[in-house]
Amino acid sequence: MAAEQRKIIEQLMGSNLSNFTSRGQVHFTDRKVCRSFLCGICPHDIFTNTKMDLGPCPKIHSDKLKSDYERASYSHSYGYEWDYLEDLERHVDECNRRIDIAEARKEKTTEEIERTDELMREIAHTDHSIEVLIEEMKALSQKGRVNQTMKHYIELRRLRTHRQELHQEVISMNEVPSQAGTTHQKLQVCDVCSAYLSRLDNDRRLADHFSGKMHLGYAMLRNLAKDLRDQLELQTSDKNEEEGGLEAENQEYGEQHSMLT
Ligand SMILES: [Zn+2]
Ligand SMILES: [Zn+2]
Repeated sequence: MAAEQRKIIEQLMGSNLSNFTSRGQVHFTDRKVCRSFLCGICPHDIFTNTKMDLGPCPKIHSDKLKSDYERASYSHSYGYEWDYLEDLERHVDECNRRIDIAEARKEKTTEEIERTDELMREIAHTDHSIEVLIEEMKALSQKGRVNQTMKHYIELRRLRTHRQELHQEVISMNEVPSQAGTTHQKLQVCDVCSAYLSRLDNDRRLADHFSGKMHLGYAMLRNLAKDLRDQLELQTSDKNEEEGGLEAENQEYGEQHSMLT
């Protein structure tokens, strides 16, 4: 059912995207344009064909708009990096939540773990579908398409109920004492990507994990978020100092500043 849902959304988004671009009316400032893609890498492009596949990005990715934006941002600051940071951090936070859950249940049986993974995946997909539906609904209601907006709303309600049921199952699984014996105490949780690793895994298996697309994707996501946060915080403190009329006397500070501008 989730797959079917996703197919419908892909079709919807696909047709929408071509409409938009074929009219040639979209400017990079349009809210339908993906700001993460404009500023760097969209998280939706990082995990394709992995267990954490986020599905297609509901917003427009266009190389042309990206270069328009890059050109325009030389002379004007649009502040889109903050949207980008918010997007990156949202995915890092989600991963951290999964790490917490995984830590809490690492002594469960393989079957229990598989079911949890399955539930978490389905919750993530449902969340994504809900996000897409809301975006769609906003667009439809702006165009005054009442009937379609209603249909979307009914679907949205169904998805929210479904999500609640999944969430409930996760909670009740946590409440039930695990069937696992001591054999599963050998599990540990990867603190980068939230996957389970076995202490019994040989070096080869571990190396495979650390060079896998999902692990590397989360490592990249975390680095992107950290670097961007540092950069934006530096810019902000720089700006505050300028506004306060203070001169940056520190040579090192001045050098960092010139690197960023
Ligand atoms: Zn995107
Ligand atoms: Zn990992």
